[in-house]
Amino acid sequence: MENNPPLQVSGQIILPGYELYNEKRKVWNKYVDRRPAAIFECESEADVISAVNYANNANLEISIRGGGHHLAGTAVCDNGVMIDMSQFRKVTVDEKNRRVYVEGGATLADVDLETQKFGLATPTGTVSQTGIAGLALGGGFGYLRGKYGLTCDNIVGARLVTAEGELITVNEQENPDLLWAIRGGGGNFGVVTSFEFLLHSVGPDVLAIDVMYDYKDSRKILKELQDYMESAPDDISVNLSIVRLPAAPFLPEFLHNRRVITLTGMYAGEMNGEEDGIIAPLLSLAEPIMDHTGLMPYTELQKKLDPMVPDDARLDGTSLFFKHLSDETIDILLQDIEQAELPMVMVQLWPLHGQMNRIPSQDTAFAIRDAGYLLIIDGEISPDDPAKCSEWMDSIYSKLLPFSSHESSYVNGVKVDKEITRKAYRHNYEKLVSIKKRYDPQNRFCHNHNIDPE
Ligand SMILES: Cc1cc2nc3c(=O)[nH]c(=O)nc-3n(C[C@H](O)[C@H](O)[C@H](O)COP(=O)(O)OP(=O)(O)OC[C@H]3O[C@@H](n4cnc5c(N)ncnc54)[C@H](O)[C@@H]3O)c2cc1C
Repeated sequence: MENNPPLQVSGQIILPGYELYNEKRKVWNKYVDRRPAAIFECESEADVISAVNYANNANLEISIRGGGHHLAGTAVCDNGVMIDMSQFRKVTVDEKNRRVYVEGGATLADVDLETQKFGLATPTGTVSQTGIAGLALGGGFGYLRGKYGLTCDNIVGARLVTAEGELITVNEQENPDLLWAIRGGGGNFGVVTSFEFLLHSVGPDVLAIDVMYDYKDSRKILKELQDYMESAPDDISVNLSIVRLPAAPFLPEFLHNRRVITLTGMYAGEMNGEEDGIIAPLLSLAEPIMDHTGLMPYTELQKKLDPMVPDDARLDGTSLFFKHLSDETIDILLQDIEQAELPMVMVQLWPLHGQMNRIPSQDTAFAIRDAGYLLIIDGEISPDDPAKCSEWMDSIYSKLLPFSSHESSYVNGVKVDKEITRKAYRHNYEKLVSIKKRYDPQNRFCHNHNIDPE
């Protein structure tokens, strides 16, 4: 096998048939199997510029890989140029100005590790191997959303290589239209080589909420959680999941193959003695079957769900926002998951409130600022009947659509579909099209929830 040719500066170009090609075209969702014409593994801004110029000269489409975690595998494309940023992940903290500079291939773990050295954090997500770039560009829901907003709300600057191969600075002063667009508009406008995020005081120890309930109490739990969220302080952000647990050695035997509801999250407020009372209702939504709530390092909380994430997942998924969860919505959801004939279904229902919902919906490309819940459903694709999973997803999506908020979905948790993309961006869609026309009129960056310049 031949060696890969070096990139102009430091990275390498990986071509079909060359060493590592089959390894490097893999993404987190193992159902995705695409074959790019060339993979540019970039380690510098000059490498990224070379990759974009190469795609332009060869008239090829571009896909961009951050952490490779998008369910739809948009990081990799057939027959185009895949710009792989995963080796480009330095994180630099400016403690004095409370800013962090993060290269475009960093993971959430990379960011938390560096920022926590200073007792600081920027809001990210809940699984540490996820890439910060895709997460931030599409939204970014984590345990700080109530207090400090979404990840995209904390982007204050970026360096970006445009479709013309030009490296530009993006902030309030320079290219402010692009700053607006990358706060939720995805990878449509260029390759982000580095982000500048706001930092906030967090931890090092935080009060982690981690309680598990029996699925049989699901209706009561969902009702009481909704009552609680109506007056929950911004300091609280929790994620509810419904899942059948695997028969994994790290779980006690009584939980093997059992369908449960988990509530994980964080209290991000002052530890002044009142915190236990504030979180108490969340720990008694029903009779818990396990409760590991307690103080722990923020970096540990941010990795707590990692062992639950398979590295050989073959998944499809869907997503919708809701203002509230009516009895009818809950009935459809629970009935459908109980009857699903799929190897695995995981439902996540994330309450939304506080700072993330106070930002006016036209202030950022991310447009959904008045929903109370985000639903994300993932299902495992059976090798015997691969179509069944996507049919089931389409069916539950259609049934729940009439009850949703503005019929909109979270772009980071849903398949790529023109109509879904348009609905996700709502009234911001036309402005995104006009910015796309300015920066990428030929739609070179089209492997994403695409803002079509046409
Ligand atoms: C196990 C798991 C847990 C998750 N948990 C959460 C969570 O807690 N909260 C949440 O909000 N979301 C969560 N997500 C969804 C997550 O936000 C998306 O999967 C997101 O796309 C991941 O970013 P990535 O860089 O890893 O993805 P990639 O697949 O690498 O990229 C996705 C898209 O982002 C764009 N992109 C990536 N890097 C760049 C770049 N440097 N410049 C320009 N564009 C770029 C491209 O358009 C690319 O197609 C989770 C997903 C998984 C699989």
